[in-house]
Amino acid sequence: MKRLLKGGTVVSGEGRRRLDILIKGEKILAMGEDLEYRDAEVVDVTGKLLFPGFIDAHTHMALEVSGTVTADGFDTGSKAELAGGTTCIIDYATQYPGESLREALANWHAKADGQSSCDYAFHLALTDWNEDVSRELEEIVREETCSFKLYMTYDTMVDDETMYEILSRLKELGGIAGVHCENDGIIRARSKELHRTKGSRTDVSDYPWTRPKEAEAEAVSRLLKIARCVDTPVIIVHLSTAAGYREILRAREAGQTVYIETCPQYLVMDESRYSLPAEEARHFMIAPPLRKKKNQEILWQALKEGRIQTIATDHCSFTKAQKMAGEGDFTKTPCGMPGAQERPALVWKFGVCEKRITAEQMCTYLSENPAKLYQLYPEKGALIAGADADIVVWDPEAAWTMTASDMQSACDYCPMEGTEVTGMAQQVYLRGKLVAENGNILDEKNGVYVRHGVK
Ligand code: MN
Repeated sequence: MKRLLKGGTVVSGEGRRRLDILIKGEKILAMGEDLEYRDAEVVDVTGKLLFPGFIDAHTHMALEVSGTVTADGFDTGSKAELAGGTTCIIDYATQYPGESLREALANWHAKADGQSSCDYAFHLALTDWNEDVSRELEEIVREETCSFKLYMTYDTMVDDETMYEILSRLKELGGIAGVHCENDGIIRARSKELHRTKGSRTDVSDYPWTRPKEAEAEAVSRLLKIARCVDTPVIIVHLSTAAGYREILRAREAGQTVYIETCPQYLVMDESRYSLPAEEARHFMIAPPLRKKKNQEILWQALKEGRIQTIATDHCSFTKAQKMAGEGDFTKTPCGMPGAQERPALVWKFGVCEKRITAEQMCTYLSENPAKLYQLYPEKGALIAGADADIVVWDPEAAWTMTASDMQSACDYCPMEGTEVTGMAQQVYLRGKLVAENGNILDEKNGVYVRHGVK
């Protein structure tokens, strides 16, 4: 079956062009001005922007953590992504202690296969490093994924020696690591200190104090020095502070290659949310925490200047009831928030409409760069002949109000509840198939597994 999208404006990182797109099966067959094709179903997209399907390179679906499991599995989480215009996610498959990397990947396939409504790939979070895992890594990079995740805090953290060894091995094999940068010692010490001085940890407004900006900046700095010794590029995931950003700029000035990911929550929300009544404040408990407002303009400026490479969600959803686990002690709150469906509209509204970034940059940060960084390009991340027909028909004028009850996520709150935005994914095509329209899912569970860097 052939489909011809006529009259739209195609967006890439380079510019905007009035081009028609001819889709055949799962692929883009041709693009051109005033394209005609017999037997093709014509879809009028006049006045609309056409983006390559957005990629969300940081998600946690069906993740078991803090004694519970995220509200969204691949079923509802991928619908939330798709409804917003995201056609491919890269989720963090986690290796638990004692597991081989194959076992970890098999566990994540069991969660995702047949459930996902958008395409999906996996990063692999390495938590248990030994000779066997190091050997196994060669085959994993060759056959499954080139992208790995390392934590500098939590039970899943790796120490500096392990960090060095893993980065060295990845350099050898052609893989890359994204790293959660927060100093674990500062966080643990401050959490204890808070309990000692206040007698409890129920006041959520104390939460950001337990994870200060210095914790991020120190870990970024340490990671970059280790990466410099190894002489390999790294990715800083969910950068939240100007202090951390400055460490990266310094390393770049010295010639290091460092990629940065940030998230909408650090661009549009700030730590004042933790001063809401505790029950509500816990909904905003994420790690790293929301920061002082002045960080936002610095991160936006970095996006404007092209110094941040990607914007991902860190979608990690828990219901209001799950968040209640932190009622008596906020450190028991499962950390994370939803954001899959909201991301494109938030970037459009607060980025493009408010002239902080251009539509072309939105394409770069949401589609092109994640595809390139994680070796999914050009099948994903580009509207060109031969690419997957993952296409977002973006209505730049559509006005809507963000509210949890209208969203696909299984989470029962929306962090940006009540926010009025313009810009919406009017139609979403996944490999040629119309799967979502105006926030509704038309066709589910069509997602397939995508290997990165493996042709
Ligand atoms: Mn995360």
